[in-house]
Amino acid sequence: MKENYITYLKFLEEKLDVFFESQKEYICCHKGCSLCCRHAEFPYSRLEMQYLAEGFFSLDEELQNLIESRFEVLKQEKKEFKGEKFLYDCPFLVDDACSVYEYRGVVCRTFGLLSQSSDGTVKTPFCCFKGLNYSKVFDHVTQQLSDEKVKELGYSQEPLGFNLSYEFLTNPDFERGFNILFGEKKPLLNWFCKSEN
Ligand code: SF4
Ligand code: SF4
Repeated sequence: MKENYITYLKFLEEKLDVFFESQKEYICCHKGCSLCCRHAEFPYSRLEMQYLAEGFFSLDEELQNLIESRFEVLKQEKKEFKGEKFLYDCPFLVDDACSVYEYRGVVCRTFGLLSQSSDGTVKTPFCCFKGLNYSKVFDHVTQQLSDEKVKELGYSQEPLGFNLSYEFLTNPDFERGFNILFGEKKPLLNWFCKSEN
């Protein structure tokens, strides 16, 4: 299963590389930028968790301890949380970089692109609202990407949305195609909390 999952990840990365390349004029991702790893839930399947665990155990003991202690703090905070959705910074983010980069999950690989679902709804990456990806062509009045701004600023490529929803990228067609099974899916933190869905 692991080898098949790695093959799937390679396939996904190749597709994403093409998408990022086609959108490079709108992308400002750079080393040390880590907003996408903060204040979110991070959906993970059992399969992704197994691979992530391998990354975790490849880290030195000090880092493992740091990450473990962060999970402990978050678990406690989540217990005391009264709202609907508990959002948190990913415990694997260390000095603004992913400590398990090669082992990170599917959703982590899609951060930063425009996502378009099958009903045509386009989802702008969160960091657009922080002055990053696609922000120069985003119209805050209409809350949409602006064709006028694309023309005005002389971009050679249109902003394009890709079907990058987590549900789509982990659907049964991919499971059959790569002979993998994603299994149960839940927010990253919930994998560390007893009796959490
Ligand atoms: S696993 Fe890595 S890439 Fe994914 S959210 Fe955490 S720090 Fe970011
Ligand atoms: S997706 Fe956005 S927040 Fe994440 S590295 Fe790229 S520009 Fe920064």
